Amino acid sequence: MTRPMFDKILIANRGEIALRVLRAAKELGIATVAVHSTADADAMHVRLADESVCIGPPPARDSYLNIPALLSACEITGADAIHPGYGFLSENARFAEILQDHDIAFIGPKAEHIRTMGDKIEAKRTARALGIPCVPGSDGGITDDETAQAVAAEIGFPVIVKAAAGGGGRGMKVARTEADLSDALGTARSEAKAAFGDDAVYIEKYLEKPRHIEIQILGDGQGNAIHLGERDCSLQRRHQKVWEEGPSPALNAAQRAEIGETCAAAMRKLGYRGVGTIEFLYEDGNFYFIEMNTRIQVEHPVTEMITGIDLVNEQIRIAAGSPLTLSQADVRLDGHAIECRVNAEHPDTFRPSPGRISYFHPPGGLGVRVDSAAYQGYTIPPNYDSLVGKLIVHGRTRTEALMRLRRSLDEFIVDGIDTTLPLFRTLVRNTDVQNGDYDIHWLEHFLAAQNG
Ligand code: ADP
Repeated sequence: MTRPMFDKILIANRGEIALRVLRAAKELGIATVAVHSTADADAMHVRLADESVCIGPPPARDSYLNIPALLSACEITGADAIHPGYGFLSENARFAEILQDHDIAFIGPKAEHIRTMGDKIEAKRTARALGIPCVPGSDGGITDDETAQAVAAEIGFPVIVKAAAGGGGRGMKVARTEADLSDALGTARSEAKAAFGDDAVYIEKYLEKPRHIEIQILGDGQGNAIHLGERDCSLQRRHQKVWEEGPSPALNAAQRAEIGETCAAAMRKLGYRGVGTIEFLYEDGNFYFIEMNTRIQVEHPVTEMITGIDLVNEQIRIAAGSPLTLSQADVRLDGHAIECRVNAEHPDTFRPSPGRISYFHPPGGLGVRVDSAAYQGYTIPPNYDSLVGKLIVHGRTRTEALMRLRRSLDEFIVDGIDTTLPLFRTLVRNTDVQNGDYDIHWLEHFLAAQNG
C-alpha cells in the first residue's frame, strides 16, 4: 500500500540540524530546499540541498524567523512541507497555523499542543491533568508578594520563580528564605518581560540535588503513542545542557518502563502528533515534570543510537499522515550513548569564538557519529548559536561508550577557533562523571573549583 508522502520539504533552519533533516528527507526520496541568510551563503546545508533560497540579511528576525520570506520560498520552489528543526520557529504555534492556512504541512505537532506546552503554567496544568507527576508549586501565575509568600510557606523554602514563557534557562530566580522572595519575584518578572515580552511567572519548590531526566515520546495524532526511553542531561552550565547520555545511570529497567508508560499514556490521551520530550527533574526516586518540548531536540541522536530509530524520518512520515508503524514492543534499548555539544567557545571562560576553522578533522570508527555542518575553511558567523557540532558515541556498555568517547575526543581536531573540546577531554577522565555520580549542579561546582 502506498502511503501519502511529501514531494519537497523546505528546511527552515541552518547548521547541523538543517543537515540532519536534509539527510532524513533524502533517504525518504524527498526533494529538499535550503533557506539561508546572507551570512550563510557558504553553509553546508545550502551546498547539499537540491535547491536553495536566500531569505534575508544575517539577523535571525529578518531571515530564519521571517515568515513571509519562508512562504515566498515555498511558493517559488513548490515545497509542500516545512521542517522547522529546533529553535527559530519550531515552537511557534502561529507559524504552524499560518502554514496550514497556506496548505503547507508543518512537520511538527498540532498548533494547539505547541501553544499549550509553550506556556509553562498551562503545560504544568495539562501535565497534571494527564497524570504526569509535577514539581509542587503555584497552580497559576503569581503577580503579588502576598500570594508568593503564601505559596512558598505551603511548599517550603527554597523556591524557584520561573517565567511562564521561559526558555533557554532565562527568567529563573531562586529564593532561599522569605526575605529573598520579594526580590526574586521582581527580578524574575523584569527578566521575563525583557526576554519574552511577558512578565507572567510561577513558583516551584526548588530541588537541591536533582538530575535532569527526559523521556522521548513519539505519537501519530491518531491515538497511538510510544516512548523511546530516557536521556540524562544533568551536566549543565547556566541551565544549558552540555553532555547528554542514555540510558540514565540513575534508573533501572522497572523505573524506566514506569515513567515511560506514564508519558506514553498521557500522549495517547492528548492525541499528540510527532516527536516530543517530556522533561523531569529526578530526586530521591521521584520524577517531577518541568516542561515539554514539542520539537526535535539537539540531543535526539542519543536516543537514535540506542534504539536504531531515525526520529526525523518518523517525524516526516507522521506529518504526512502515516500512523505509527512501531509498537512499544518494537522499541529495544541497546547499549549506551553519550553526546557532547562542542561549542565555539573558550573552554574556561565560555566566551564565544566565531571565526574561520583553519583545520577540521572529525573522529571516526565504530560507534562514532559526528553531526556537524562545519568543514575546513568554514567561517562560523557571529550571528547565531555557537554549536560547532555534536559528537555522539555508542558502546555496548557505559564503560565502552566512555572509552570510545575518550579516544574520539582525542582524535577530534578543530583549529583556528576556541572550542569546548578540552573541557570534554577533562570531563571524560573525571571519576564522578565516570561513575555517573552527578546532579544538575555538579558541572557548575566543578567549573568554579577548576577556575579557582
Ligand atoms: P528552560 O525552558 O528555560 O530550559 P526548564 O524549566 O526546562 O527551563 O529548566 C531548565 C533547568 O533549570 C533545569 O534543567 C534545571 O537545571 C533548572 N530548574 C528548573 N526548575 C527547577 C526546580 N524546580 N528546582 C531546581 N532546578 C530547577
